[in-house]
Order: sequence, then structure tokens, then C-alpha cells
Amino acid sequence: MAKKKFSNSLNSQMLRVTLIPLTLMAIIIVSVSVSGLYQLVANKTKEELIRDAQLAQYVLNSVYVGEYWAEDADGDGEPEMYKGEQRINGDDMMVDDLANMLEIEISVFYNDVRLITTLKDSNGNRATGTSASVIVKKEVLEDGASKFYSNVMVYDKKSYAYYMPLVSEAGKTEGMIAVSRSQESVKQELLQYIFPICVTCGLTAFLMGYIMVYFNRKLAGRIRKMDKYMNTLADGNFDVDMPRELMLEDDEIKHLANDGKRMAKAIQMLVDFDALTELNNRRYADKKLEEIRIKSVERGMKYCLCISDIDFFKKVNDTFGHEMGDYVLKKVAEKLKAGMIGKGMAARWGGEEFMLIFENRELDIARRELEIIMDEVRTIWVPDSDRQITMSFGLTALEPGEDIDDALKRADDNLYQAKESGRNQIICK
Ligand code: GH3
Ligand code: MG
Ligand code: MG
Repeated sequence: MAKKKFSNSLNSQMLRVTLIPLTLMAIIIVSVSVSGLYQLVANKTKEELIRDAQLAQYVLNSVYVGEYWAEDADGDGEPEMYKGEQRINGDDMMVDDLANMLEIEISVFYNDVRLITTLKDSNGNRATGTSASVIVKKEVLEDGASKFYSNVMVYDKKSYAYYMPLVSEAGKTEGMIAVSRSQESVKQELLQYIFPICVTCGLTAFLMGYIMVYFNRKLAGRIRKMDKYMNTLADGNFDVDMPRELMLEDDEIKHLANDGKRMAKAIQMLVDFDALTELNNRRYADKKLEEIRIKSVERGMKYCLCISDIDFFKKVNDTFGHEMGDYVLKKVAEKLKAGMIGKGMAARWGGEEFMLIFENRELDIARRELEIIMDEVRTIWVPDSDRQITMSFGLTALEPGEDIDDALKRADDNLYQAKESGRNQIICK
């Protein structure tokens, strides 16, 4: 049988209901982790920048004593910046060391002009003389408030930055100190945390997916086997064994397969057996006769058949009731069945008529065996009565390959003759 294609097979349904939620789960876990981590890193960056700005201010205040001021005495357009008596721009070693240590950029502004800075352009030139952005100028310099920015242009890079106003003793804002980290460097740090989460989540999802697919396939495979097995039964092949895969687990599939087998057996009983006597019925006997005819040709063997009929059975019904008639039919069937063991088969031919098939036998041997059966039937009595049950038999032998209908006619004629000549006897020709 070709493998059946389903437009929505159980396998693909099961794959969908497992893989889609699994993928969604992985996406949700990664998204929630990434956004949580992003928040965490952004908060951490903010806290670090505030602390670093305070540290830088503390260092500057500790090293240089006095107020911030600036003048462009040499007229080169770039003012010299002082704190108290000491000039603080020109030699950037201290801020460079501090910035390296803290892994940040540091700028000191006089008003909004960057006079000390670790920021450099792509050629390595320091960004001194450049201005703070307009918003910073407004919010920090003019309003005199410290401020954190998570997305502000610091020189030429989008950055996280913390600006602190530098206030003189008189309370005037002279400039600003700014510490910053480029968004790029924060993103790199974030990636360091995200990467293991993504790898772990991806591997776990893959492993879970693999296990689910493996078991789904196994289950779908067993169900396919079950379908094939049921198809075989539906085609009337009741003798086929239940596939091993269906019996592997003590589960619903095995249970279903057993039910299928029992159902097939029940159907077989209905099709091939007579419900009252539990002998094979006429349909089965016809099939068997044809099989034996073919076998007799192949092996060149003779066989015999006999049509038998209970004598005066109508009287049994009329005198003792139909139920007693059924009882007698069952008793007769038992005797015929037992008598035919190892010889061939007995079947209910219809009403109170039975067919006996003697396989691989000459007529005289079949006759002797039939006499024993006839004697056995004679031992049946209608209970609590003087009514003995007897039968008449029409026996005939068949040559290998002989037409069945001819032989049946002969057996019927013999039975008729047995009835005519007093019943309770065998006529064989
Ligand atoms: P003979 O010796 O000539 O065969 O006489 P007979 O009375 O046996 O023959 P007849 O054909 O007149 O009657 C057969 C009866 O068998 C008639 C029918 O009601 C009865 N019979 C057929 N099938 C069943 C059955 O399943 N159960 C019962 N109880 N009776 C049945
Ligand atoms: Mg009859
Ligand atoms: Mg009869």
C-alpha cells in the first residue's frame, strides 16, 4: 500500500503545536532578557557616569586649588584655562590617565567650550575648542543643573553622558565637566551579556525541539502503522499479526489496535460462522469447497462430501417448542463437529441440514467414519422424553477437480433416497 498523503497529517499538526510555541517561547525569553539587560546596563552606565563625574571633579579640586577661569592671552583663539593660579589645559596627562582607568571620555568646558578633553577625531587630534550641544548648554550651563543623557551627541558620537556644572564660590556657573561613554561601547558591553543568553536559549530550544520532533515522529509513525494495520483488517485479512511497533508501549494505541483485532474477529465470526450452532456457515463451506477442489487437483487427491438432515425435526419443534428445537440443533452440531475433528469440517448448510467434508479420503473410509458419527447423533434424546434424534446422510466421493455442483446434486439425491427408504441411514454413491 502506497504511503497515504494527508493534507494536514498528524505529524505536521503535532510539529506545529510543539515547534510554534517553542519558537515563540524562545523569542519571548530572549526579548525579555535583552530588554531587561538593556535597562540594567543603561542604569549601571548612568550610575557609573555620575560617580565618575564626581570622582573627576574631586580629583581636579584636590590637585588644583581655586576658582576656574580662562583667558586667551597669547591670542591663538584657544583660551588658556586656569584653576586658581595653575593652568589646567595644555597638559592632558592627568585626564587621560583618569579616563583610561575609568574607561570613559572626560571633557572640561569653560562656558560651553571644550578646553580639556580626551575626545579625539579620527586623525588623533583632540576635540578642544569644540562646543557643547545646544540642549546641554541650555539645561546644564544656563539652568546650572547636573544632567544625565542617554542619547546625546558628544563631539561626533552618540553617547551616554553626564554633565555637571562647575560653579564658583560666588555661585556663578563657569563651565561644565562631562563624562561620557559612546553608545557603541555600551552596546558592545550589552552584547557580552546577551550572547551567552542567546546561545543558551537557542541551544535549549533546539534540544527541546529535537526531542519533541523525535517523539512526535515516533508517535506519528506508530499511528501510521496503526492505520495500515486497520486497513489490512478492513480489507478482510483478519489473520495478519499486530505490528511490533504497536505493542511497544502499553498505551492507547496498543489498546486501539487490540480493539481493532477483536472487532475484526467479531466480524469474522458473523461472516463465517452460524450464531446458533457456532459451526461454520454455508458461505464459509462454499468457500472451503472451492479451496479443497483446487487443492485436490494440485495433489491429485479424492475427497467426499455429505449432506445430512435431522429426521422429523419439525415434530420436535411442534411437540417440544422452538427452543427445544434450537437445543437439539446445538447438540447435533456438537456431535458433528467433534466427529469431524482431524477428518475435515462440519458446517450448517441451512435449517436442520448440515454439510460434512471429508478431506483426502476414499468413499469407504469416509462411510465408516460417518457411521460412527451417525451413532453418536443417535445418543441425543430430547430431554425428559422418549424422542430420540436421528439423521439421514447422503454421502458421495469426488474425483480430483470434479465440479462441486454435480457432486452436491448427487449427495442431495442420496439424502432424498435415505429419507425415502426409512431415514436414520447413510446412502452413498
Ligand atoms: P424430514 O425427516 O423429512 O427431514 O422431516 P423434517 O420435519 O425434519 O423436515 P421439514 O423440512 O418438514 O422441517 C424442518 C423444520 O426445521 C422446519 C423448520 O421450522 C425447522 N427449523 C429450521 N431452522 C430452524 C432453527 O434454526 N431452529 C428451530 N427450532 N427450527 C428450525
Ligand atoms: Mg430439511
Ligand atoms: Mg429434516
